[in-house]
Amino acid sequence: MKPEKKYPVTRSFLPPQEEFILATKAIWNTHWLTNQGPLHQEFEQALKTHLGIPEVTLFNNGHLALDVAIKALNLTGEVITTPYSFASTTHAIVMNGLAPVFCDIKPDDHTINEELIESLISPRTSAILAVHVYGNPCAVQAIEAIAKRHGLMVIYDAAHAFGETIDDRPITDWGDISMYSFHATKVFHSIEGGALVYAMNGLRRRFDLLKNFGITGPETVEDVGLNAKMNEFQAAMGLVNLRYIADEIAERQKVFEHYQSGLSTIPGLQLPVRKPGVRYNNSYYPVVIDPELAGINREEVFTALENYGIHTRKYFYPLIPDYDCYRQNYGSAHVPVARQTASRVLTIPMYGSLDGNDCDYIVEHIRRVMERR
Ligand SMILES: *Cc1c(COP(=O)(O)O)cnc(C)c1O
Repeated sequence: MKPEKKYPVTRSFLPPQEEFILATKAIWNTHWLTNQGPLHQEFEQALKTHLGIPEVTLFNNGHLALDVAIKALNLTGEVITTPYSFASTTHAIVMNGLAPVFCDIKPDDHTINEELIESLISPRTSAILAVHVYGNPCAVQAIEAIAKRHGLMVIYDAAHAFGETIDDRPITDWGDISMYSFHATKVFHSIEGGALVYAMNGLRRRFDLLKNFGITGPETVEDVGLNAKMNEFQAAMGLVNLRYIADEIAERQKVFEHYQSGLSTIPGLQLPVRKPGVRYNNSYYPVVIDPELAGINREEVFTALENYGIHTRKYFYPLIPDYDCYRQNYGSAHVPVARQTASRVLTIPMYGSLDGNDCDYIVEHIRRVMERR
């Protein structure tokens, strides 16, 4: 049976093509394609204003931004992190010669369980790398207190949390450094791209050095760096998309509300939580299926929805410590909540161009699949 419709799990936002072309016109005058060009500078300024943040440094992607953040803080030994994320988070730790120490997550919002962090701190611990997963803010106050008590640095992987606020303060106000990803699949994008947000003195210079081979002048290389520069075409896309981000998030809010009301009465289906004081960006819509209560498991729901043209993702499955490249060292990590969540979660389609009929279709078919038990 051919499905009537087809829904990807996400759909990259694109601005009107003419606007992008117009934004790139200047490049043909200056022949300045990359290396801190005028659009790059303009995009940095625009982000500071839009987000109300003190400092931002742009990168060609979020992963290298995270990599540079770790390098710039000169971390050593062990880093306490979440097993429940995208590969990038742990890879950035390991690629820097550091050991990840996996801390379990909370069942309601899937962020790192702050109550377990202290039991994992050792004399070798230098930092906490936590993730605002799906845009759910970590327990930032508690984590700040733990870090202070033990003299640890805090980095947030805020790849999912662009533009969010907690009590009207930018979410990036917490932690020493926060990383945003502007990948095409994220709520806000610059095709590929990323940024570090921070306030600490001296970091801007370190970041600018590290992302450009450590070069400080035509005849001086001060540091061992890499190439992680955002180019002018990325900056142009970012600048144009910034004009539309508020609308995109508002459209996603409608989808979110449609899903919340449509799916709330299905037994065994856990929906996203919304905490007071947080302005969310609706970057993902994860649902967690309890097979006992639902009478159907995640794999069955995944396949059945696929047959209706609704593409979902097992995001995040497998769990990072269970990857082929990590299993041997970290497969025994005691993270039961994360492991159970990974075996039960699905993210369902979430993007601004889904209209009311699309949401009805998706809700109705999830109901049909789950109430067939
Ligand atoms: C997307 C993502 C990254 C990496 O960002 P890129 O811009 O794709 O390099 C890192 N962490 C998380 C949680 C992500 O979702």
